[in-house]
Amino acid sequence: DGPPPPPPKRMHLRVCVRLRPISPDDSPLVETENRLLRIRDPHRGHASEFVFDQLFPSSAGQEFVYQAVGAPLVEHVLGGYNACVFAYGQTGSGKTHSMFGGPGGEWGERGLTPRAAEGLLQGAARLDGRGQGRVQMYVSFLEIYLEHVRDLGRAAGALLPSGAWPGGGGRRSRPSSAREDRCEDLDILEDPSGLTFVKDLTHVQVKTVDDVMTVLNAGQALRQTASTAQNDVSSRSHTVFTLTVVQHPDADGPGGGQPFVGKLNLVDLAGSERLNKSHSAGVRLQEAKAINTSLTALGKVVMSLSHEGDHGHVAFRDSRLTRILKDSLNGNSYTTLLANLNPIAENYEECFNTLQFALRCS
Ligand code: ADP
Ligand code: MG
Repeated sequence: DGPPPPPPKRMHLRVCVRLRPISPDDSPLVETENRLLRIRDPHRGHASEFVFDQLFPSSAGQEFVYQAVGAPLVEHVLGGYNACVFAYGQTGSGKTHSMFGGPGGEWGERGLTPRAAEGLLQGAARLDGRGQGRVQMYVSFLEIYLEHVRDLGRAAGALLPSGAWPGGGGRRSRPSSAREDRCEDLDILEDPSGLTFVKDLTHVQVKTVDDVMTVLNAGQALRQTASTAQNDVSSRSHTVFTLTVVQHPDADGPGGGQPFVGKLNLVDLAGSERLNKSHSAGVRLQEAKAINTSLTALGKVVMSLSHEGDHGHVAFRDSRLTRILKDSLNGNSYTTLLANLNPIAENYEECFNTLQFALRCS
């Protein structure tokens, strides 16, 4: 109960690396020992070593990763802080598996998003012990493709009651058409205090994990429809799934009953792989440039905010992704970068690049 403690001076950042399982026929590219990771160049034989906050070997399961990465952030969000998890890595490295779950949707293999939703709902029920409706949770889901922002929560907005979204610029629910879908690009606006929000984004009020899964599944289905037509756009777009907890404490308690908000952003980033030279034209080139711009901006923002010093010129404006997440990445925040590797010999360059990105951030 009560208002959150004063914000930390800088972003609290953790950088973790997760290895996806490889087949017994592949020789491993990476060895780990506690927090130390060693990667060997399969052609020249020399090894490089990296140290991160935490390493998840391929044997680490979904619940283990949730307890290490998700559960601490859930507690911060219930305390009124904002938090982000970014899944970074090349296509096929396990980003979507980590954030959402296995391809068949098996419940036992559910990822960070459903598990965090459950943790937040349980926490909200605990805080609202007397069932007075003082704690509400909302979900939004968006996709950024070619620097266009698309509302993936819209489909579920029609299935679930949207409740009264207390934030700015939200829309309750609306019909969608295929044509509107393809060219949608929601505006990112700033309120007078400098906080950013996405205009007309659907915010669905959720009361159960089933409600959250309805939004998640309807949004993923909306992504898939576009993908089949456009040759798996999903690996070249970012998604941001946001769980917002709003608390209305007792008027006579500390803080005088001022409502406070915590947000958890679960971000499945576009594949970080470099463009194959044979594809360096047309829409593939545009996609590669957009992804490179946004991942570079993300790296710069995280790097500057996670270090002590003057944060006056943070590169939020360089990409849609960093603009949208500005108020979640600012001083009052906890961020985890989960770098994913598919550690087989042919992926040496991409694995090395992913480790370099993770190291630059930390
Ligand atoms: P990405 O989203 O980075 O492109 P995916 O999450 O789709 O990668 O993973 C690629 C494949 O590897 C999928 O079939 C996925 O189920 C599998 N996979 C990834 N990580 C794991 C893991 N930790 N355990 C089991 N299977 C995994
Ligand atoms: Mg994916």
